[in-house]
Amino acid sequence: MNTDHAWKLSYYNLIIDNFNDVVCIWNTKHGSVVQLDKDIYSCFEKNFFDSIPSSDLASYIKEGLLVPQDLDEQQEILFTARQRQYSLGQSSLGFVIAPTVACNFRCPYCFEQGIDRCGYMSKETQRLFIDFLEKLLHNNANIKNVRITWFGGEPLLAYDSVIVPLQSKIIALCHKMNVTVAFSIITNGYFLTSEKLDFLFKIGQTKFVQLTLDGSGEEYAKRKSTSIDAFYRVVDNLLNLSDYLHKNTIDAKIKVRLNVDNDNYEDVKNLALSLKSDSRFCDNIDFSLERLRKYGHCQELQSFCTTEEFEHLKYDFNSFLEKSFKFPEPKTVFCGQHCMNVFCVGINGELYKCEHDIGIQKHAVGNIRNGLTYNKYFLDFMDLPLPKKCLSCKILPVCMGGCPHRRLMNNNNTECDFTINNLIKVVKHFISEKEVN
Ligand code: SF4
Ligand code: SF4
Repeated sequence: MNTDHAWKLSYYNLIIDNFNDVVCIWNTKHGSVVQLDKDIYSCFEKNFFDSIPSSDLASYIKEGLLVPQDLDEQQEILFTARQRQYSLGQSSLGFVIAPTVACNFRCPYCFEQGIDRCGYMSKETQRLFIDFLEKLLHNNANIKNVRITWFGGEPLLAYDSVIVPLQSKIIALCHKMNVTVAFSIITNGYFLTSEKLDFLFKIGQTKFVQLTLDGSGEEYAKRKSTSIDAFYRVVDNLLNLSDYLHKNTIDAKIKVRLNVDNDNYEDVKNLALSLKSDSRFCDNIDFSLERLRKYGHCQELQSFCTTEEFEHLKYDFNSFLEKSFKFPEPKTVFCGQHCMNVFCVGINGELYKCEHDIGIQKHAVGNIRNGLTYNKYFLDFMDLPLPKKCLSCKILPVCMGGCPHRRLMNNNNTECDFTINNLIKVVKHFISEKEVN
């Protein structure tokens, strides 16, 4: 590495510990954590690098702590984000498909309130989707893998009429085109019964299932406007699935999304513990605590957490379940939907950019008959600039401004999902866990 350049400290260095003679720095852009001698750090601060041995200097440069003096790091981040968003040379193609918008539950927070909750994807639309996918694969030889996520409504309501026939056809097409394919499903779990598992996981190449539990027993029934029996059925399906995947050595993951506000946290925590103690529970299940928030058409819930409150709950939850802390990795965009290679498909073949738009006709950005339309909604969504406060944020590289859909709906204002102090706490925890192991 050429160390003869003029260097400066990266803007994205955060001091996470400063003790005795050592300064511990986390560079959020590079994703590195480096311990430095205090004297060396003070040389850095004074831009005085001559006394540092060139091999050490090279390693600080490699870890991203020092960057060329003339580099505009913000410009670099924005360029990389644009490149990821608009690159036509991506090797993967993703679709989130709603085979139906009907649902058997009525969750008060559901963004689909106000959307006509009936209708299934017809055979003709399924056929058109296959034509559309075939054309895309044919015209883009660089695509090597396809990812399909079933979404809804409750997608398993359309298990027989859409999922089985369309998933089978997509697999056959990808096989013919020499492209790999993997499926995911976002379901409430009520219809995820044992007779469907062989198709979904042995034939259907389903690799990921996400289901949501917002509490146990009565709390669950209240929040989803359903019965307590429904809760027991969903839990039973979940545990049977975990056991099934394990016994059949199928490499698929289950994410249990636990939506919390300030009212149901304790309940959710106990639920996770009781699920873990069931004999059918295997390590293919991952719990993910998620923050309930007011969204789009959703009704008011009284006790949404603030960012700090939620971070506190998440920290407590992970410690309680002895869950490993995830190191906050740098990313190029906040979510895949903000890129040109991911689309959502409605029941009539409409194309959308975000799954939260499915069923909202005025947010459609084309359809599978005629392809994409560069309409105002599409351009506003794709070209949404990062808010001013994000541009100067030290954790921009691990956040990238928050959900673009939420920002677009909110005049490009963003409510931070993270605070610097909490992320520093998580990084410290991560390091201490690594040291123990
Ligand atoms: S949303 Fe908040 S945490 Fe994320 S980059 Fe913007 S200011 Fe930073
Ligand atoms: S809601 Fe936001 S984070 Fe979720 S898919 Fe849409 S744009 Fe992405």
